[in-house]
Amino acid sequence: MKPIATITRTKAIMERHNLSFKKSLGQNFLIDVNILENIVSKADVDEECIVIEVGPGIGALTEQIAKKAKHVYAFEIDGRLIDVLEDTLSPYDNVTVFQQDILDVDLQNFIEEHVNQGEKVKVVANLPYYITTPILMKLLTSHLPVDSITVMMQKEVAARMSADPNNKDYGSLSIAVQYYTTSKVVMNVPKTCFMPQPNVDSAILQLNVRSQPKVHVEHEELYFELVQASFGQRRKTLKNNLKRAYSDEIDSETLEGIFKEASIDPTRRGESLSLEEFAELANVFNQYIT
Ligand code: SAM
Repeated sequence: MKPIATITRTKAIMERHNLSFKKSLGQNFLIDVNILENIVSKADVDEECIVIEVGPGIGALTEQIAKKAKHVYAFEIDGRLIDVLEDTLSPYDNVTVFQQDILDVDLQNFIEEHVNQGEKVKVVANLPYYITTPILMKLLTSHLPVDSITVMMQKEVAARMSADPNNKDYGSLSIAVQYYTTSKVVMNVPKTCFMPQPNVDSAILQLNVRSQPKVHVEHEELYFELVQASFGQRRKTLKNNLKRAYSDEIDSETLEGIFKEASIDPTRRGESLSLEEFAELANVFNQYIT
């Protein structure tokens, strides 16, 4: 039988199950099997891997993962697709589908219950674009024992997540993602590879989860808060952004002292600071803030 990710089979499956695409759930299904094989190969999925998939849709990517992985656990929010997936994925006995919003899943617990010692856990998905960032931040901040995350997303978001300092795309999202992972765009995917076609092009981002965060910070929450504040108004200097954000807690003179102690020039802009420099600043800041 032809792969699910073809125009003819996707149309036939949609018709047979009397289905329409739900735009509100980001339902743009992949119809190019080469792209899918590429995602699975970039993710380096093999028979020792347990794969968590977010949003299997009608099973286009799930099928290609199932051919290589030990087991795929797929979480789909749309109840209409559960019977469809049972049908389309019936040739594979290593797939389990759950009808659940991924944002509600306790993944730490899930992995403890479903993964044995020695098995590698990977996340592979063509993400629903309306919640790409919340899904990724959930995966990263829960400190899961996950080896890598290989995901398709809107091209612009992938660029922001993988941007270096002094790049127009560099911001608090780049720092949050790079704190936990090494990130790299491995492939651009044109909108013509989807049904229905989205308005934007896509990219596959490969995230390898670090065993330790990239930098040591005394107070993680303060670090991310400070980063956020530093990008408050991109064209303003660090000093002006931080002065504004912390006016109730820190006076101008103390702030000057903090910059001096951290050896950071207060007239720089947030977009020029590396993760290490932000860590330096946040660690000094931490001593002065209550
Ligand atoms: N994996 C399929 C493919 O590549 O063709 C479908 C990808 S489609 C871009 C995103 C899928 O995520 C849809 O099937 C949608 O119903 C599902 N989805 C949307 N929000 C979700 C959520 N919060 N939790 C789990 N699945 C979700």
